[in-house]
Amino acid sequence: ILHNTIQDLKGNIRVFCRVRPQLSSELDKIPCRFEFPEDNCLSIGKNRESVNQITGKPTESKTEFLFDRVFSQEAKQNEIFEELSQLVQSALDGYNVCVLAYGQTGSGKTFTMQGTEGERGMIPQTNAMIFEKIALLETLGWTYNVEASFIEIYNENVRDLLNRDNNLKLEIHFNEGRGTTVSNLMKVAVKSPTELEKFMIQASGIRATAATDFNEHSSRSHFVTKIYIEGRNNQKELTYIGSINLVDLAGSESAKQSVQGDRLKETRNINKSLATLGDVIGALHNKAKHVPYRNSKLTYLLQSSLGGNSKTLMIVNVSPLEECFAESVNALRFASKVK
Ligand code: ADP
Ligand code: MG
Repeated sequence: ILHNTIQDLKGNIRVFCRVRPQLSSELDKIPCRFEFPEDNCLSIGKNRESVNQITGKPTESKTEFLFDRVFSQEAKQNEIFEELSQLVQSALDGYNVCVLAYGQTGSGKTFTMQGTEGERGMIPQTNAMIFEKIALLETLGWTYNVEASFIEIYNENVRDLLNRDNNLKLEIHFNEGRGTTVSNLMKVAVKSPTELEKFMIQASGIRATAATDFNEHSSRSHFVTKIYIEGRNNQKELTYIGSINLVDLAGSESAKQSVQGDRLKETRNINKSLATLGDVIGALHNKAKHVPYRNSKLTYLLQSSLGGNSKTLMIVNVSPLEECFAESVNALRFASKVK
């Protein structure tokens, strides 16, 4: 109950922050100081709703970034999923939902979204919950049609990850009635989480094949998993059409000064879509008349799932390392702009 009240007060956009743990491979690296107010110190507010950036002496400057929730290094995937599981219900109730992982490369976006065998991330847990809920609703006279599509946006180009045919033009269209559509996009019907998982592996395969350096490529592209859910109840003559977009965003790090040529153009394009994402969510939050969806492929693609009747959750991932401090603060600042 408390939860819904918070959501009502803050509208349909929520922002979480997650600090990942220091990895065993990073033991030689200096962590941000989380306790003492010294240089390069980030501290999590006692209420778990803020991250404080403290620089200089304790009496000196202190910046507070506010979030709906902050997850510390110890937080498990289940705790985070618990917070977003109600969004799965919203999608079944006919809402368009969007969950985005934001942060610099190495901050834990893919871990949060995909996870591992033992610590399953938001995408596999969402898949499982959709079909659990559907199984129950089917006993109450509902029938469901679930479909999925997988899209990558790289350098402002949209790519269908279920289709190797590069000659098909993928064009994004939006109209009030039908929402966002993408011409020629392959959508596959799925009947179980295992089936969805299978397509996802296929999509990741296509994503990886074209890239010479996959890590580099994946850190520079946005990966969007979209699940379409249509529920009908013939007795009640009701139809609900909802969706969930699960987005693993490109790394938010700023371009190195040495970057030039194609690389620089790419970096600008990535920063453009992330910057536009910030502008769009900020405009929605401020109830601005004009929302600049069309300024980037990413926001145009997500138009029907950002704003209006939709529900958005952004998870800002932060590294615990001191060497990442400046980028962490950038990410926190980005997030505080959208709230
Ligand atoms: P990104 O996708 O933002 O580049 P990754 O998700 O690949 O970052 O995370 C970087 C590394 O940190 C990976 O080895 C990942 O397994 C690990 N990692 C990230 N978050 C966690 C976490 N919460 N718990 C344990 N390991 C994590
Ligand atoms: Mg990643």
